[in-house]
Amino acid sequence: MRRISVFGATGSIGANTFDLMMRAGGPAAFHTVALTGDRNIARLAEMARALRAEVAVTADETLLPALRAALAGSGIAAAAGKAGLAEAAARPADWVMSAIVGAAGLMPGLIALQHGATLALANKESLVCAGPLLLATAAQHKARILPVDSEHSAIFQCLAGEDSAAVERIILTASGGALRDWPLEKLAHATVDQALAHPNWEMGKRITIDSASMFNKALEVIETREFFGVAPEQIEVVIHPESLIHSMVGFRDGAIMAHLGAHDMRHSIGYALNWPARAALPVDRLDFSKLAQLTFRAPDLDRYPALRLCRAVMATHGVAGAVFNAAKEVALDHFIAGQIGFMDMSGVVEDTLSLVSSDLSLGKAAMTLEEVMAADHLARVRAHAAAGIRHSRRE
Ligand code: NDP
Ligand code: MG
Repeated sequence: MRRISVFGATGSIGANTFDLMMRAGGPAAFHTVALTGDRNIARLAEMARALRAEVAVTADETLLPALRAALAGSGIAAAAGKAGLAEAAARPADWVMSAIVGAAGLMPGLIALQHGATLALANKESLVCAGPLLLATAAQHKARILPVDSEHSAIFQCLAGEDSAAVERIILTASGGALRDWPLEKLAHATVDQALAHPNWEMGKRITIDSASMFNKALEVIETREFFGVAPEQIEVVIHPESLIHSMVGFRDGAIMAHLGAHDMRHSIGYALNWPARAALPVDRLDFSKLAQLTFRAPDLDRYPALRLCRAVMATHGVAGAVFNAAKEVALDHFIAGQIGFMDMSGVVEDTLSLVSSDLSLGKAAMTLEEVMAADHLARVRAHAAAGIRHSRRE
């Protein structure tokens, strides 16, 4: 029986993974090693009982007693904190879903790779912060990383059986998020609720706001460079409001392969879960007789400074990606808390990149977990300060 762990089981990707596991037979189909969450203890315990997991882990140490109580009588072990996550990631498993949100997903993913597990990677932040480290760890331990982000799953599927040397360009599609039709001058005043009204995809709160600011797409451009080993200038972004083409690959003979499907993350999660096979999945089928149109437009970089910033980050290499991601996470926290405006998020990230580059040589820092986390920490300190300045200017 395949041994499976899900990191970030209580989130949006985690719930979809759980749904597919239960439909496939749950504990009769898989041996569940570890399930992890953070604050949603009731849901974590319920999932762990349904899948008869070996261990359930909350990232929040203060919630360990609550998790123990929720698992009482089940025989399922409870653990907490970074040490609990690390121990769970080191347990032998064949397939591990990496679906914690943010840079916190990096450490368990690296440990799972060190133990030879196949890592289904939804946590794009891992590749943005530490792509070379993750890939080297996978190679060293003969472990595989499978993409779960819908665009990267699409690209992976378009590349199946192709010679990577024949790839000319990769075209990432972007929905444009909730605010894509707003006039530029109004964007600075967008509220959290307005940024959360995503037209197509049901996702966690943070990635939904990142879709509206295109920070999500900026992370995905870097993720594409790391995953597929292409040069930054081979990666294009196009806004495709219908979100039915999940991404495309252009080859040197002019052919373009596109991957289409319904807006349902169970598609790319299921592809990774069943790879290299294709299993039947409970996703809507596209009816081309009812599809009115597929439209495309170029992104305006004045609306989406994140798309410009990610290019500078890729040109710098090293830990610049970790700084970019950490600054973005802090800027997002400040936006969610109502302290800075929507367009201030890119300003905070830009300020942080320049502040941190005078403290440390971003391109030259060694790519160890410690170096990456040190850069992440410093970037958070600087980003809080940069956000504080913008906050006080608003008052
Ligand atoms: P959610 O916010 O819905 O879920 C996040 C998960 O991580 C939850 O299980 C949460 O626990 C847990 N968590 C939060 N903070 C921490 C922490 N500090 N340490 C450990 N665990 C933590 O996120 P999504 O499911 O939307 O996204 C997960 C990842 O997948 C992200 O990297 C995102 O970019 C990526 N992704 C998501 C897509 C989507 O459709 N949602 C699409 C493509 C990629 P709890 O809920 O118990 O507090
Ligand atoms: Mg995506």
